[in-house]
Amino acid sequence: MTAAPLFGCIEAGGTKFVLGVARDADTMLRTARVPTTTPAETLGAALAFFADAQAEWGAFDALGIAAFGPIVLDRSSPHWGTIAETPKRGWSGTDLVGPFARALACPVGFDTDVNGAVLAESLWGAAVGADIAVYVTVGTGIGGGALIEDRPVHGSRHPEMGHMLPRRHADDRDFAGTCPFHGDCLEGLASGPAIHARWGASLSELAADHPAHAIIAYYLAQLVVAQQALLSPRRIILGGGVLATPGLLDRVRHEAATLAGGYFGTGDYARLIVHPGLDDRAGLLGALALAQRACR
Ligand code: ZN
Repeated sequence: MTAAPLFGCIEAGGTKFVLGVARDADTMLRTARVPTTTPAETLGAALAFFADAQAEWGAFDALGIAAFGPIVLDRSSPHWGTIAETPKRGWSGTDLVGPFARALACPVGFDTDVNGAVLAESLWGAAVGADIAVYVTVGTGIGGGALIEDRPVHGSRHPEMGHMLPRRHADDRDFAGTCPFHGDCLEGLASGPAIHARWGASLSELAADHPAHAIIAYYLAQLVVAQQALLSPRRIILGGGVLATPGLLDRVRHEAATLAGGYFGTGDYARLIVHPGLDDRAGLLGALALAQRACR
């Protein structure tokens, strides 16, 4: 009998890196969190974590990195494995893969945090059995990953679902939006900071009859309908801090059904639009799924 494989996992976020050592999805041996400060400091702490783990459990079979974007996923690019131009100070051009590949001498799987999450949800969570699935997180920003026939979508870069341009709500015409690139794109209208900029509070802090709930549901529903029009997914998973607002998911389902007007062949929006099945573990388990794929 061969020993169970050993995987390193990194959920690389804009505010923290979550690190893990796992045998499989049910056997997470150790986890840690390090704040995202400078690349040298944060990657240094992560390298130290994995060096300790390697001393205890032996060599890794593979490492998976599920990272905040934008990142370079094109395997033919000399910049594969790096962070692309980002407003996050000091991180543009940072090589996320190289230092770990050299230190751990193992294959490295690399993708966006949301592509990792949709992969993990398809293996162990709310998208099991869905040949086309989408995972969207609505929080500090809005990001989305898509899985088509078992493959995360990359293409020229990777999906940037938060930057689609929605139709404006009739009661929300004056707000310019918070996106530095587009103003009133989806992220500029419906992310946590955009909600705060309009109403001075998070959505869950506003009374249930506050018009903000209907306005944000209207925008998120447009993302759902766009996904149906473009990708024909069987499952759309909506996660992130804003979706923790009581009642919001149901409002989005209702609004999406209304906007879709009976088209797209499904009336079952409760089955189409769901919360994550893995809760806040989707990020780290996404990294694990990427690691497992890297050593196939
Ligand atoms: Zn934008």
